Amino acid sequence: MELTSPRPHLAAAVLAALAFVLILAFGGSIIGTSVERTVTVFFVSLAAIAAMGLYSGNSGILSFGHLAFMGIGAYVGALLTLPAKIKEATLPALPDWLATTELGLLPAILAAVVVTMLVAAVVGAAIWRLEGSSATIATLALLIITHGILIGWRDVTRGAQTFFGVPRETSIWVAALGCLVALVVARLYRDSTSGLRLRAGRENAIAAAAVGVNVQRERYIAFVISAGLMALTGVLIAHFLGAFSPKKFYFTDTFFLLAMLIVGGMTTVTGAVLGAVVVTLITEILRWLEGGIDLGFVQIPQVFGTTQIGIALLILVALVRRPEGLVGLKEWEEWLLPARRGAMTPTPLSPVRADPLTASNVTKRFGGVVACDDVSVTVAPGEILGLIGPNGSGKTTLLNLLSGVLKPDSGTIFRGSRDLLTLARHRFVDAGIARTYQNIRLFPTLSVYQNIQVAALSTMDGRNADARTAGALAWLGISDMAEAAAGTLSYGDQRRVEIARALVCQPSLIFLDEPAAGMNREETDALMETLRRINGDLGIGILLVDHDLALINALCHRIVVLNEGRLIAEGTPADVRNNPAVIEAYLGKAGHED
Ligand code: ADP
Ligand code: MG
Repeated sequence: MELTSPRPHLAAAVLAALAFVLILAFGGSIIGTSVERTVTVFFVSLAAIAAMGLYSGNSGILSFGHLAFMGIGAYVGALLTLPAKIKEATLPALPDWLATTELGLLPAILAAVVVTMLVAAVVGAAIWRLEGSSATIATLALLIITHGILIGWRDVTRGAQTFFGVPRETSIWVAALGCLVALVVARLYRDSTSGLRLRAGRENAIAAAAVGVNVQRERYIAFVISAGLMALTGVLIAHFLGAFSPKKFYFTDTFFLLAMLIVGGMTTVTGAVLGAVVVTLITEILRWLEGGIDLGFVQIPQVFGTTQIGIALLILVALVRRPEGLVGLKEWEEWLLPARRGAMTPTPLSPVRADPLTASNVTKRFGGVVACDDVSVTVAPGEILGLIGPNGSGKTTLLNLLSGVLKPDSGTIFRGSRDLLTLARHRFVDAGIARTYQNIRLFPTLSVYQNIQVAALSTMDGRNADARTAGALAWLGISDMAEAAAGTLSYGDQRRVEIARALVCQPSLIFLDEPAAGMNREETDALMETLRRINGDLGIGILLVDHDLALINALCHRIVVLNEGRLIAEGTPADVRNNPAVIEAYLGKAGHED
């Protein structure tokens, strides 16, 4: 897996993680036993939320199920290291091979990680298609089912009884090492090709698919990797405690770990660290208060549940005041260090040749509305085709059908001899089709550079992705805003980024849905010039939807007109202007234009 961010950033992040872990482990090991225990547990918790963040932060899907993987890891690891004598006494029904196995900690970790990743691979396949809250609920089901199995499988787990006798091999230094591994894996994953694609999918699934990102696949990869790290934390906690039962891997700990994740901010590793520190400190203070204290002048009585209630309030405050967590959306080094990417000779965008796009008798209904009614249209290679019609006439729907965002109820769509309706949404870009959107769909928290880079990495086999990105930035004249978060730009600039992102895919046909909306005359003229160059210099065909008829008439070789989902006219700009049906459609309605 390739890494997508500047190397100095990653080096700084890894070194900082190393320093943080070393200092804490050193400090914890000299102060005293109780601090040492707290720090050891802290390391394991931090590793766990780094693992949870790897999945939830990058995908945007909160998981309630990750403690299941920790539990599986703990039991698998402990079964492998448990002394044979104790197995004989407490788990007499174990199969022979397992009853006699006595592994060291490291091989047990490896085995537990592999087994857990296999489980995650199966679970991940089962929830492959689920999005958003359905996926979250599925992870909750995973937690409950796993808990049920751990309780029910008495011959192997001792059921609800305590599983004890596990060698206490997790010292503070072992936990520190495990934590470092999790932090580094999580940090590197975030900036791997897969991580960047997953973040793009989190920000805008439709736009990510349109630039070649298979969001489900990346989500699956993240899910399996994070499960592996959770297994590591499970083995560590098992060999720290020496004795545990299934309830250790259930709601209580899920709650505390989610609190850390939410308070710090789940999209960054920096957030994981800060969240773990803050929640651990507050938990320690609340536990101390919970026992009741005597301040001399006032006595605070013992209140059971103070800790949970306090942390719950903390989550509420965090969600209201800092929904993105204390750290926000950037890693510390992304805030502090300038983003200097290696000097890059931009690859110039090159002209393309292509097949016609042919839609025949395409129909799409939304409930009672026929948004697209038996439409047949062809876009010839290299032509600029205008698509006009009153609001609600089905223009956007037609673009969505032609770009794979929607599937038609009937009809066919071909690119040359290639049947596009057999393609998954993220494969349309392979057929040379790229687009922009009426309601801009950027990846708002990613930088302009990353918006385009993720498209470059996901098309043309990711070849020369950085040089192509630089080329597209230069072509649109937006190189100077490369490091700004895309969502912070002006409307006009966001539209240019969208066009650059479409162009970096090296399409032969580009769809533009009202690109001039919200632009003043000057910006519209600049846009017109850009579109002329896209068509003239690069030979890219354009399907242009706009209400600005001056723009349409000046640019388009041909125009098609939709009204109430039906194609009512087709021809040169002059033909269409004088067509009575078009005049009727436009003038026959009150308030026809926006
Ligand atoms: P245009 O882009 O020409 O303004 P649209 O394609 O957006 O028109 O809409 C065509 C019709 O289809 C409208 O009546 C609109 O309300 C309806 N429509 C579009 N998208 C959806 C959707 N996702 N769900 C339900 N109705 C939709
Ligand atoms: Mg529209």
